[in-house]
Amino acid sequence: MTVQFADVSAPRPTRDGLASLGAELQAQIDQGERTAALAKWDQARRSYESWSSLVYLRFAQDTADEHAKAEREYADSLAPAALALDTEIKQQLLADPDRTGLEHLAGAHAVRLWQTDVTIFHPSIAGDLEQEAKLYASYTELLASAKIEFDGKTLNLAGLGPYNEDLRRETRHDAQAARRGFFEQNAREFDRIYDELVKLRHGIALKLGDPSFTPLGYRRMRRVDYDAGDVARYRQQVATHVVPLVARIVEARRVANGLVHLYFWDEALIDPQGNVKPAGGYEYLVDHAQTMFDGINPELADFYRLMKVGGFMDLKNRPSKAGGGFCTSFPSFGMPFIYANFNGTHGDINVFTHEMGHAFQNYKSRDLPVIDYLWPTSESAEIHSMSLEFLTYPQIGELVGDAEAARFRRMHLIGALEFLPYGVLVDHFQHEVYANPEATPAERHAIWQRLERIYLPWRDYGDLAYPAKGARWQAQLHIYGMPFYYIDYTLAQCCALQFWARARREPVASMKAYVTLCGLGGSAPFQELVKGAGLISPFAAGALEDVVREAAMELGL
Ligand code: ZN
Repeated sequence: MTVQFADVSAPRPTRDGLASLGAELQAQIDQGERTAALAKWDQARRSYESWSSLVYLRFAQDTADEHAKAEREYADSLAPAALALDTEIKQQLLADPDRTGLEHLAGAHAVRLWQTDVTIFHPSIAGDLEQEAKLYASYTELLASAKIEFDGKTLNLAGLGPYNEDLRRETRHDAQAARRGFFEQNAREFDRIYDELVKLRHGIALKLGDPSFTPLGYRRMRRVDYDAGDVARYRQQVATHVVPLVARIVEARRVANGLVHLYFWDEALIDPQGNVKPAGGYEYLVDHAQTMFDGINPELADFYRLMKVGGFMDLKNRPSKAGGGFCTSFPSFGMPFIYANFNGTHGDINVFTHEMGHAFQNYKSRDLPVIDYLWPTSESAEIHSMSLEFLTYPQIGELVGDAEAARFRRMHLIGALEFLPYGVLVDHFQHEVYANPEATPAERHAIWQRLERIYLPWRDYGDLAYPAKGARWQAQLHIYGMPFYYIDYTLAQCCALQFWARARREPVASMKAYVTLCGLGGSAPFQELVKGAGLISPFAAGALEDVVREAAMELGL
C-alpha cells in the first residue's frame, strides 16, 4: 500500500510534552538503559520533524493562510525548546565515559555531529533563536507579498521570472526594472531585517563564547572536516579557474546575441535562439518524467512513481505561495516531499531534477539507524541534487523534446559554470558581513559591490540604480535565512561536474556510484562521502581545474 501525503500527520508537540519526554529519557540514561533511550529519542525526533516539516510546508503553500501562519509561529516559538531538549540529551550521552560504546550504538559520525551540536545552543539564547526565526519569516512574507503589474498582469516574483529571458531586449530590461523596483520600494525593510539578523547573530555568538558569528555559523552547518581557511582557498580556486572561463562565455553570448554591450538584463538569455523551455506544462512534465526516470535507473523510476501516486509534490506557481524550491521530509513515514514554483522556463526542469535528487537520497536513507543520517550535511546533500541534474542528460529529451535536448544540455552546463562565481560571491559577502557586524546597510552594499567586481567583473546594471549600488544580494534568501549555506552549492557543483564528466565515459558505473552515495545519506562527513563515491574533494588541488577544463572543451571555449 502506497503512503499518501493526505494521510501524513504527526502529533502536535507541546512544551510540557517535550519536558516530560526529556525527563523520561534522562531517567532511562541514568539507569543505564542507553539503547532503549536512544531508540525512544530517535523515534520522538522523527515525529517532531514530521510535524514541523508539515507546518512549514503548509505555510509555504499559502503564506496568506492565517491558520498556517499561526502554526508556523507556534513551530518557531517551540523550536528553541526542542533544540534545548536535544542538546541536553546529547550532553548527557556525551558525558558517559564509555565513548566507544556510544559510538558503537549510535555511529561514530553521529557522535561527532553531536559534539558539534552541543556547542551551538545554551538556554540563554532561546529567545534570540525565536527572534531569528521571526525575522526570517518576515523576510519570506515580504518577498511573497510582491504584486507587480507587468504585461497587463499582476505577478509575483516567480511569475515575473520568464520575462527575464525573453527574446525581446526591452522586455528583459523592463522585467528586471520591475523586479528591482520592488526591492527598491522595500529597501528600508530589506535593510532593517538583515541588519537586525546580523546583530542578533553576532550577539548569540558572543553569548556562546565565539569571537564572531562565523565559527558558530560553521558549527551550525555541522562542518566537521573543513574550516573557513579551506573555504577561502576554494573561493580563490573559483576566481582563478572559473571566472576567466565564465567571462569568455558571457563575451560569446554578447557576440551571439549581436549586442554592442551586454547588460545585466541580457545575462539570463543564454541561448540566442531563446532559452529552451519545457516541452509542455505541468501535467506533461510530471507524466514524461516517469519515462525519463524509467530510462535512467529502475530504483529511481519506482521511487518517482511512489512520489507521484502518493501526491508528495507541489510544483505549480500560485498567488501567495512562497517562492523557491525545496525538498522536505516526513521521517516517521519514510517519505520526502518536493516543492517548486513552475513558471514555464528551463528553470522548472532544473528545480525538478534537483529536488528529486534530494528526495531520492532522503528516501534511500530512511532506514539508517539515526535521524542524524537521514540528511547529510548540506554540501554533501547538494551533490545528490545537483548531480541528478547532470545524470538526467541522456534522457532529458523527454522533458524538453528530443530536438532541443542538445541545446538544453549546453545551456545547463553553462548555467552550472556561471553559478560558481556567483555562489562564492554570496559566501565571501557573508564572511565579510559577519566580520564587520557594526557595518551600516550602506557599507554592506559597498562590500557586495566590491566583491561583485572580483567575481562578476562583466556585470553592468546600466540604468538599474538600486542593484548598481550593491543591493542585488537582498534577493538571495539564503543570506537572510541560511547563513553560510551557499558555498555548499558550489562545493557540490564541483562534485556534480565530476559526475557529469564520468558519466560521459562510464554511464552505468557512475549511476551506480550515485545510487550508492544516496544510500549512504549522512552517515559520514563530506570529504569521506566524496572519496567513497570516487570523486576528488573540491578542497584538493586540481579538482576544480580538471572539470572546468573538460567543460571548456565541451563548450568549445
Ligand atoms: Zn538543493
